[in-house]
Amino acid sequence: MPESTTPRTPIRPKERFLIFGRPTIEEPEIAEVVDSLRKCWLGTGPKVARLERDFAAYKGVPHAVAVHSCTAALQLSILAAGLHPGDEVITTPLTFCATVNAILHAGAQPVLADVDRRTMNISPEAIERAITPRTRAILPVHFAGRACDMDAIMDIARRRKLVVIEDCAHAIETTYKGRKAGTFGDFGCFSFYATKNMTTGEGGMVLTQNEAQAARIKMLALHGMSKDAWKRFSDEGYKHYSVVELGYKYNMMDIQAAVGIHQLPRVERWLERRAEIWARYDRAFADLPAELPAPTEANTRHGLHLYTLLIDEERAPVSRDGFLDGMTANGIGVGVHYMSVPEHPYYQQRFGWKPGDWPVAMALGRRTVSLPLSAGLSDEDVSDVIAAVRAVLAR
Ligand SMILES: *Cc1c(COP(=O)(O)O)cnc(C)c1O
Repeated sequence: MPESTTPRTPIRPKERFLIFGRPTIEEPEIAEVVDSLRKCWLGTGPKVARLERDFAAYKGVPHAVAVHSCTAALQLSILAAGLHPGDEVITTPLTFCATVNAILHAGAQPVLADVDRRTMNISPEAIERAITPRTRAILPVHFAGRACDMDAIMDIARRRKLVVIEDCAHAIETTYKGRKAGTFGDFGCFSFYATKNMTTGEGGMVLTQNEAQAARIKMLALHGMSKDAWKRFSDEGYKHYSVVELGYKYNMMDIQAAVGIHQLPRVERWLERRAEIWARYDRAFADLPAELPAPTEANTRHGLHLYTLLIDEERAPVSRDGFLDGMTANGIGVGVHYMSVPEHPYYQQRFGWKPGDWPVAMALGRRTVSLPLSAGLSDEDVSDVIAAVRAVLAR
């Protein structure tokens, strides 16, 4: 290991630090937010309704319900699926904590099934092994934007009569055999958090084929009030509302949707830009002591949300954490997606989970780093990332 990863002259000085996951905000969303403010319609209203319609159309499904986060989307989907306390939901250990937290907030029991070494996605064989008489649902995550093996997962779900809830936080543009991510299972959940492929600041969306389920999610997202409660302050006169079950305050605001309705039409163009950056990274890093993302599976489209390197700690001059420090010292923001869920003390204490019980996710989580991949990166930004990676790894 080297004595220090601090460069004498950083590739980018502090004033030009390249922020990881920086969103791209253009003039139309700024004008649309101002329009919401001028009209004084801040909360859930016509702009949320438009984002729901536009997103459903983009995905080719009949129903989309906007909520304030993907975490909320996952929790409400699990509730709408009718799971009871103690029911088990099988998910991946290589995900953001929100996936597991949503299961817990819905009162269900998370059960982890290890990932495939190459795709980093939940392994269908591991799902089979994790099934018990209490299993009610599978919650796959399309990791980094790479489609899960949906044929195998849907086959298990049909045979075992399990609900499928897709975590599509990375997978807005992802397709599998021509079909869009989030349209396979009973529910597809999306994130519009600031670092995701499109943003509303904070925000999320639930897709479902089922009208009754969509209405239920809408109701659960707004206090459990009977439908269209948001219309009650309109100019059509006062309308009484009824609370028909215990709901939450998870609705999206028009101020958020104002951003989203202008981001959505750009996601395909932004995907093309990220594909260019991805190809440049693949070419630039082929000779380094790090493993590049596996080629995309035939018949699928990768959403290209995260470009990950697996640091080869045997051959590299730095450890994974040394790489993170070296990049930061060179003015490049980096991420880790993710330390496996059982690495966190909360889950260890509550469930007795040990990282080594899911060895593939543990090993990946301890070696992985994510590089900047926003569509807004300039060619020069990308050159700086490449120069920094080479400066830290190619010694
Ligand atoms: C970001 C993310 C979430 C949570 O999304 P929010 O909108 O921030 O709640 C859930 N799952 C995965 C895989 C994520 O990356």
